[in-house]
Amino acid sequence: MGMVKVRFAPSPTGRIHLGNARGALINWLHARRHQGQLLLRLDDTDRERSTEAFALGIQDDLRWLGLGWDDCVRQSDRLARYEAAADALRGAGRLYPCYESEEELQLKRFQMVAGGGVQVYDRAALRLSDRQIRAFEAEGRRPHWRFLIAYEETAWNDTIRGPQMFQGSKLSDPVLVRADGSPTYTLASVVDDTELGITHVIRGEDHVANTAVQLQIFKALGAATDIAFAHFTLLTDAGGHNLSKRLGSLSIESLRAEGLEAMAINSLLARLGTSDPVEPVADLERLIAGFDLERFGRAAPKLDLEEIRRLNGPVLHAMPFAAVRERLVALGLDAMDDGFWTAIRANLSRLDDACAWWAICRSALVPLIEDADYLVQAASLLPSSPWDETTWGTWTRAIGAATGRKGRALFMPLRLALTAREHGPELKTLLPILGRDRAEARLRGETA
Ligand code: GLU
Repeated sequence: MGMVKVRFAPSPTGRIHLGNARGALINWLHARRHQGQLLLRLDDTDRERSTEAFALGIQDDLRWLGLGWDDCVRQSDRLARYEAAADALRGAGRLYPCYESEEELQLKRFQMVAGGGVQVYDRAALRLSDRQIRAFEAEGRRPHWRFLIAYEETAWNDTIRGPQMFQGSKLSDPVLVRADGSPTYTLASVVDDTELGITHVIRGEDHVANTAVQLQIFKALGAATDIAFAHFTLLTDAGGHNLSKRLGSLSIESLRAEGLEAMAINSLLARLGTSDPVEPVADLERLIAGFDLERFGRAAPKLDLEEIRRLNGPVLHAMPFAAVRERLVALGLDAMDDGFWTAIRANLSRLDDACAWWAICRSALVPLIEDADYLVQAASLLPSSPWDETTWGTWTRAIGAATGRKGRALFMPLRLALTAREHGPELKTLLPILGRDRAEARLRGETA
């Protein structure tokens, strides 16, 4: 097979949430794993609900997640292609005009549900006489157009779900062209997947029946259908319900505003629903090697936001300075260097916790004095040089020898005086960062 080409196809009718982001990540990882390409396709044929602001917002969310794309197309730029496809289907007798209003269709759906039947369009439009059609046209009704499903079996071997088979008679003829002449997603997606050279369609299981319908459209258009399909199970909330796009708290935008790391999100989303353990990974590249669609199972994975919050610290702890430098500058920490970052990162649960450690080390602080005499004695034992990572060892051995203290009794008063906190980075690394003058002043109880 040639180069792998996948697509992530959000509709710009809202920002993306964790469910969509998972689809984007899975496609991205599959592309990278096979040295292929990712197409970002903006499914904006619904002109009323799609906005430019959402399109830009989605791109911003993806960039922030680190999920770059090789190419981007908008369906609204390709309308002529969809019209040509619709014409071809009309010519082949596979697209027929329908005149039902939305209310009439709604009523039919109610009747089908009440009658216990499957919701398959009854093809009433195929039985309209020329006179009825002329009457509708005279009323000013414009037709929408449905694809005539062939009553045959449509089968494919789904990379995740295994062999799939749909009977045509169980599928409803889908609307491919709306009354205003615009194409629907169902048609546009088939045309794009064919013309843009997509090799793998990887999407949520809510599209499984669509795949059966779309395979029929590919065939009716005479397009080669050697595309591989993979449908992953959708995330559910703790109660086992579908995540809805409207759940604002799960939007990438809001998780970012909460101060969560993109990699904490990616670490979880790459593994949810697979047999592989979730682990904190600080770099997307490290998720590529072991990625395999075949590792996704059929059970619906539950999403727990707390899991992302728990991963956040460990992800930060593994981040090199270069990966966070710009963001530290944005937090006003432009003077922070690699040594400082490496000393404090294991104590962060969110990046902006770095501000507190910067202030502790670089601004005046009121020390917490637990045992003033002991601290004054410790201050007098501070070595003058060298002032480096060995200082702590030299100093505490001297304190131990002079006072007989050890363990917590020895170091906790020092930590409280030096940082005014019970927990924090190793004193061995903090001491050189604090500097001798500041350390000595704090041990003597001075605000320094
Ligand atoms: N715009 C569609 C959606 O968001 C894309 C589905 C597909 O991947 O074909 O559901």
